[in-house]
Amino acid sequence: MLDNIRIVLVNTSHPGNIGSAARAMKTMGITHLTLVEPKDFPSARATWMASGAADVLENAVVVPTLDAAVADCAMVIGTSARLRRIPWPLLTPKECAQVVKEGAAKQQVALVFGREAVGLSNEELQKCNYHVNIPGNAEYDVLNIAMAVQVLTYEMRQAIVHAEPDSHKQSMTIECRWDEDMANAQEMSGFHEHFNQMLLDIEFYDPNNPKQLLTRSRRLFNRARLDRLELNMMRGIFSRIQAKIKS
Ligand code: SAH
Repeated sequence: MLDNIRIVLVNTSHPGNIGSAARAMKTMGITHLTLVEPKDFPSARATWMASGAADVLENAVVVPTLDAAVADCAMVIGTSARLRRIPWPLLTPKECAQVVKEGAAKQQVALVFGREAVGLSNEELQKCNYHVNIPGNAEYDVLNIAMAVQVLTYEMRQAIVHAEPDSHKQSMTIECRWDEDMANAQEMSGFHEHFNQMLLDIEFYDPNNPKQLLTRSRRLFNRARLDRLELNMMRGIFSRIQAKIKS
């Protein structure tokens, strides 16, 4: 299960943080690292900070966009140090670990970390199914990125490797018994585009003034976690509506 978990670092500025994050991951048995446009990588400083986890860096995958990093993931969780204007389903680290445990039983799960200075953009956070926040001192609760990786991977390891047998049975309720695979991020991205195009075709909203419609519909469908069959059914309906109004 730990093997189905991927840590994604977006636009990391300091190579030392990439190395520290790799070390944090390896100590918890999580080794798949994806870097979205790192500023400086590979780097001797990263390798130095990784210490015994240099192999995690050697196997790290470097990609140009967040979309590419999570395309094949059926669950994407964004980390955030502060609350955003439109709230998303927000997990504590312990809840996050349970959700990841279910998601990673059969499919790939990504945990996404933001830039040191500005975190993740709203657009990036809106690609996620859930957000997770590490609660801390109200006066200052912004962790160093590698420390945030450490806290969250620790909780995942506790939930997955050190769980009581009973809690294991209890938590494996939804995803493991589902009859279809969940749609992955790439399929969801195509879905959101199709939904948007259908709304434009039926002139449901003013494209110059969409307000929060697209954000809210994105949140709705990401929260629902469509499986592949449901996604195809919905897209079939959209296509039929489009065909009808054009005929
Ligand atoms: N000023 C930025 C802080 C970024 S800290 C902001 O306001 O978002 C760099 C990254 O570390 C964040 O993007 C997140 O991935 C992680 N991080 C730091 N503190 C966190 C916290 N309390 N909970 C969850 N993630 C946190």
